[in-house]
Amino acid sequence: MTVYEPTFKVDFNYKTPPESLALENILWTVRLSGGDFGGIEVTDLNGSGPYRYKVNHLHMHGPAEHRIEGVQYDLEIHIVHELVGGPQGQPEEEWKAYNETLAVIGFFFEKAEKSHPFIEKMRPLDFGPISDINFNELFGTLASEVENLPLLSGDQRQFYHYKGSLTNPPCADVVNWILYKKVLPISEEHLAAFRSVWFPNLGGHGNFRECQPLCGRKIVRNFEHFEESDHHKKDKACVHHNIELNEKLVHHP
Ligand SMILES: [Zn+2]
Repeated sequence: MTVYEPTFKVDFNYKTPPESLALENILWTVRLSGGDFGGIEVTDLNGSGPYRYKVNHLHMHGPAEHRIEGVQYDLEIHIVHELVGGPQGQPEEEWKAYNETLAVIGFFFEKAEKSHPFIEKMRPLDFGPISDINFNELFGTLASEVENLPLLSGDQRQFYHYKGSLTNPPCADVVNWILYKKVLPISEEHLAAFRSVWFPNLGGHGNFRECQPLCGRKIVRNFEHFEESDHHKKDKACVHHNIELNEKLVHHP
């Protein structure tokens, strides 16, 4: 069950890195890093902040690590951010003491006829050079929406949030998890291309971890009502994350 919590707020300041980049095959996943992708600002549940985070890298899991109402989607992209600053004027020793030193945004994908434009841009078929890429593009579905992103209203960016852990045992929370609610499309061909990186290295298994208990953690959402057409109807959305193993390896690159 999720709780509507308008206090928790995320502002996106993503940038387009000037240089040409490429997806790296790091055996258990693919990674995009190296450019200045900008970052996000997070205002916490108690109203503290905003805390500033800078993008560290992007990687992916297939199938997804989180489950929404028991549904495990085909792919989950993680954008990993590290804490780089606090509220204006706050001394460094204070913001550095903020518990959530990482923020990870998750985007879910499910098989569809055509991939989201962002997936196309990542060059899944040849891992070729990627230029002119901006994580903001994940919030638009059509090319025309992507071009007009500043015009999209904020409420189209609906997400779930909880404090999570990178380590085992659970409940040592150092991550602000932010999960984008809208499920995005990926073609069978592109999904297969990504999975062919990690499946052979993991004995034919996906690179996700089994779900872990919530340990009493609160899951909030920044939108009040579920639309009739929503994938996740009513107030039943339940997010489970897999807490052991992989995140520890990945999110401390
Ligand atoms: Zn991850």
